[in-house]
Amino acid sequence: MRLQGVRRFHLARDVEEALSLLSAYDGRGALLAGGVDLLRVPGREVEGLIDITRMGLAFVDGAGGRLRVGATTTLTEVLESPDTAHYAGGVLAEVLRAVAVPPLRNMATLGGAVVSAHPWADLPTALVALGAEARWVGDTEGRGSVEELYQGEFRGLFRKAVLTEIRFPPWEGAFAYEKVGRSATDIALLNACCGLGMDDGTIAWARVAVGARPERGERLPWAEEALVGQKAGPALWAEVGRLVESKVEVGDDRRAGGTWRRHTAGVLVARALARAAEKAAG
Ligand SMILES: Cc1cc2nc3c(=O)[nH]c(=O)nc-3n(C[C@H](O)[C@H](O)[C@H](O)COP(=O)(O)OP(=O)(O)OC[C@H]3O[C@@H](n4cnc5c(N)ncnc54)[C@H](O)[C@@H]3O)c2cc1C
Repeated sequence: MRLQGVRRFHLARDVEEALSLLSAYDGRGALLAGGVDLLRVPGREVEGLIDITRMGLAFVDGAGGRLRVGATTTLTEVLESPDTAHYAGGVLAEVLRAVAVPPLRNMATLGGAVVSAHPWADLPTALVALGAEARWVGDTEGRGSVEELYQGEFRGLFRKAVLTEIRFPPWEGAFAYEKVGRSATDIALLNACCGLGMDDGTIAWARVAVGARPERGERLPWAEEALVGQKAGPALWAEVGRLVESKVEVGDDRRAGGTWRRHTAGVLVARALARAAEKAAG
């Protein structure tokens, strides 16, 4: 964003006011949450910044085994919530600890991470694996899985709508997250989030997502199918790791080559499956 263009700053009191301001700016206004992304990336001309962090959308609620998180909850608030620790084997805490550094997590919000959706980011891969649902208010109220949103024109949608909440469904089982970056605080060169439910040592359901390929995280349904109905154990993790290595779609970018990504995807999926199974059994 070219900040020189910003003329006004608004503190929206509720979603209705944020929407009415967005509409009044007719494309020249932007919703501001943590500002980590918005104030950094050069982009379209913006005249009005609409702060949405005082609208009561910062909360974490883990009632009933699912998790509801308000869009303006900071990543630190999500990470430190006891509800997050108990959800799906504590996977969200693993993911959030992998996001950059604490000062950034103190500012960045979960909603901002959903909307900015960098292909190399940690959260999109986990949100897709976990079957997270987004809820928003625009001309009308809307909801949809984050996985489906990422397959469409979600950026256009959130120029005219406020993301209000992200809901994570309950899972009878556990998830684990794996990431490789150049350092502990750097962005991912590749990441994977896997979940398993087990019934007497046999896999009842499986979720496998790989991200930063360098494309954004996507599920691998054929890897999930290869797991369901099989006996859990190291041989299976290794077999599915090899399957992922042979079939996953990866590419080159300036950070890593496709050959390395392909091999590493197999390794990360095998590792995440092993850890998810350990958690699910424990
Ligand atoms: C230096 C750096 C390192 C990073 N490292 C990592 C990392 O290691 N792992 C990782 O996963 N991510 C990483 N990120 C990405 C970071 O997590 C996201 O940029 C951040 O979560 C954005 O949140 P925010 O609240 O600051 O959004 P903002 O910057 O305020 O907004 C981002 C965009 O989303 C829109 N928006 C925000 N909230 C809403 C809403 N409720 N409804 C509709 N639109 C909305 C804004 O208008 C804007 O277009 C990094 C970012 C930076 C700058």
